[in-house]
Amino acid sequence: MELRECQRLMARIYGERDAARGPERTLLWMLSEAGEVADAYIKNSKNLGPEFADLLAWMLSTCNVLGIDLQREFLSRYSAGCPRCGEIPCTCPAR
Ligand SMILES: [Zn+2]
Repeated sequence: MELRECQRLMARIYGERDAARGPERTLLWMLSEAGEVADAYIKNSKNLGPEFADLLAWMLSTCNVLGIDLQREFLSRYSAGCPRCGEIPCTCPAR
């Protein structure tokens, strides 16, 4: 399943709820899921994988509410390599 299909699946499952919630609250939920990923990692939880899945689901929901095609944006930004140096692998100074 491509990322675009995953995003469409989230629209089918949660599209009406996401639209009713609106972009600001959906974005806040996405960020709270990022916190749950960090919490699962810190606690060495077996739920780390599912928490990442939830974070991606919320990211895709947020993109749906905002009208962003995440697959298109991702490929536009990264398919040719690092957006800064253009290399694969990246040759930018480590941050
Ligand atoms: Zn780079």
